[in-house]
Amino acid sequence: VYILGIESSCDDTSAAVLHHRLPLSNVIATQKVHEAYGGVVPELASRAHQKNIVPVVYQALAEAGITAKELSAIAYTQGPGLMGSLLVGASFAKSFAMALNIPLIEVNHMQAHLLAHFIEDDAQKSPTFPFLGITISGGHTQIVKVDSAFKMDVIGETLDDAIGEAFDKCGKMMKLDYPAGPIIDKLAAKGNPTAFRFSKPKVEGLNFSFSGLKTAVLYFLQRETQKNPNFIEEHIKDICASFQYTAVSILMDKINAAIAQTGIKNIAIGGGVSANSAIRKALLEADAKNQLIAYIPKFEYCTDNAAMIAIVGYYKFKEKDFAQHKLAQARLTI
Ligand code: ATP
Ligand code: FE
Repeated sequence: VYILGIESSCDDTSAAVLHHRLPLSNVIATQKVHEAYGGVVPELASRAHQKNIVPVVYQALAEAGITAKELSAIAYTQGPGLMGSLLVGASFAKSFAMALNIPLIEVNHMQAHLLAHFIEDDAQKSPTFPFLGITISGGHTQIVKVDSAFKMDVIGETLDDAIGEAFDKCGKMMKLDYPAGPIIDKLAAKGNPTAFRFSKPKVEGLNFSFSGLKTAVLYFLQRETQKNPNFIEEHIKDICASFQYTAVSILMDKINAAIAQTGIKNIAIGGGVSANSAIRKALLEADAKNQLIAYIPKFEYCTDNAAMIAIVGYYKFKEKDFAQHKLAQARLTI
């Protein structure tokens, strides 16, 4: 079974080929056009996808060493994501599947972030069911109870900003480039996490809030730069470390609460923010203390990529869970 995965939900155009669970290629074209705007501009994203999609797919096939005719099915990101961006991937996937006369498979992007753990790779081990999936990304912050590849229930989520959004917006306040998450991560590694204190929100149950932290950082920076206009430049590492420390601590508190509530100790993270080194470290430390069993995806499978779309495609292929070729059927009935 060879599955072609296509991902175009946000600002990365990606295509991957999987042979069963083994990735043969995972090509990712990251769009640079958004950097100047400090965030993703939807219209520019759609246009860049349109430019990239054909070369990216052909590169994925070439790297995998197979021809399009050998593909068993095509899986694409159906949502959630930016409408214009999704449409480019969906239109391409539908046309290509129709031309090749092979099944088309719709994939949920957030489910894919979690099932990325099942991509076969020496650098990562797959979790056993049931596990708690922690999806932390630019658009989501969720705790998901995962009973099987297809039975997933959201048991907690953010009431306002996503954790990745908090990283990106706080980074913007410090004039860091977009996306600021990885930059904050690097700067924080050289800073003191207890240099400044930001309070944690009190949210009931397993839900999160990150907008309070963002506002706390904003007021703090405004106050300090009034006293010293160079405050941010002079203290950037400590500010990043202190912000990151608070964000990770909010996350870890809820993970611990979810373990206590469900009795499930298998913790599998997913989404772009799972690339964060402080989160990885906190989970590995808790794992070493037997408080949980941490499953951390390989870096390449954390942020948006098509291999994760293809792995969901592979599981759905085995179940024959195909999208309707509405146009193909229409043509047959003419
Ligand atoms: P969603 O998956 O919810 O649709 P998305 O696809 O935009 O959102 P991802 O690509 O999964 O998001 O993740 C991007 C986010 O991950 C950005 O907010 C980015 O700043 C953040 N991020 C990436 N690397 C790191 C890191 N090392 N530390 C913190 N945040 C990071
Ligand atoms: Fe994502």
